Amino acid sequence: MQNIDAFREFLSTPQKMVILTHFNPDADALGSSLGLSRYLKKKGHQVIVITPSDYPDFISWMPKAGEVLVYRRDRVEKIAELIRDAGGIFCLDFSSLNRINDMGVMVNASGATKILIDHHLEPQKFADFEQWDQTAASTAELVFDLIDRLGDRSLIDHEMADCLYAGIMTDTGSFRHSNTTYKVFLTASALVEIGANPYQVSKLIYDTNTVERLRLMGYVLSEKLRVVPEYRTAFMVLTAEELKRFSSQTGDTEGLVNFGLSIKGIRLSVLISDRKDNIKLSMRSLGSFSVNEMARAHFEGGGHRNAAGGQTTLTLDQTIEKFLSVLPLYKEQLNREE
Ligand code: 5GP
Ligand code: MN
Repeated sequence: MQNIDAFREFLSTPQKMVILTHFNPDADALGSSLGLSRYLKKKGHQVIVITPSDYPDFISWMPKAGEVLVYRRDRVEKIAELIRDAGGIFCLDFSSLNRINDMGVMVNASGATKILIDHHLEPQKFADFEQWDQTAASTAELVFDLIDRLGDRSLIDHEMADCLYAGIMTDTGSFRHSNTTYKVFLTASALVEIGANPYQVSKLIYDTNTVERLRLMGYVLSEKLRVVPEYRTAFMVLTAEELKRFSSQTGDTEGLVNFGLSIKGIRLSVLISDRKDNIKLSMRSLGSFSVNEMARAHFEGGGHRNAAGGQTTLTLDQTIEKFLSVLPLYKEQLNREE
């Protein structure tokens, strides 16, 4: 953050703070929000975390997750009021206001001071303060850095440490993705020193599957995984009926897309699923191939170079057709040796 002294000054007066994170919050989104929320409360502020949609069960163990206000039609007025009356609005783990439903318009209209804490590419310029670093593996790290730079590392307790550690662990794919830097280990290590419990956090996140979720994974891998060798691409399509058949809950399909990338020689993996309001694409890539660019150019989305997402309002079949028609545009890039 450039203007850290002005930010410190801003934090010195207790006020109403709202923390927002992206649609379909993952462990980094929720962990960084809850970690920051606890810090701001310790600094004397009144804080509420609002998410645009429900969060998955495997992160509901996070301390105070139960106090998160999840956006719903019948809560619109209350949420509008909270956003309007806030002194500060923190936007965590997303870089463009169209990722938070109608709340984007409310944030734009609010006179509150806006703070962006994020690691996605090409952020929209709307914030008064930015803790933004595209080389950071997770937003949780950026929250840690900010608190540390403010001289408040001692205010991080073991519960906050667990939340932030969860964000780092999941956004690095358990310290396996190419974003796993020396700095990632330093921050994770500092959090463990404070009291984060890596064993507990990974058990809670990875080993709390329902039988239906495992069966869904098995079904997708055996029946739905398609490989297009000439484009070094794997993709899977899930219909609304299939999601229903396996009683799919929020978060159940998370991680599925990574299986495609684990195939030798594959550089692009995409999961296309028929959600209630639209068709959602979850994209992963290896090396220099940018799914951020592909998602932005063709699927109203974005994200990071190697992990991005998007959507369409086409039918499922039309979306598959579009995806297959886009692939040839990237043939040379997908087949480039590196
Ligand atoms: P996932 O595939 O896990 O939903 O998302 C992968 C990454 O891309 C995450 O960092 C997520 O925040 C980002 N992402 C997912 N969907 C979208 C989208 O529709 N728009 C943008 N800008 N980013 C997205
Ligand atoms: Mn993140």
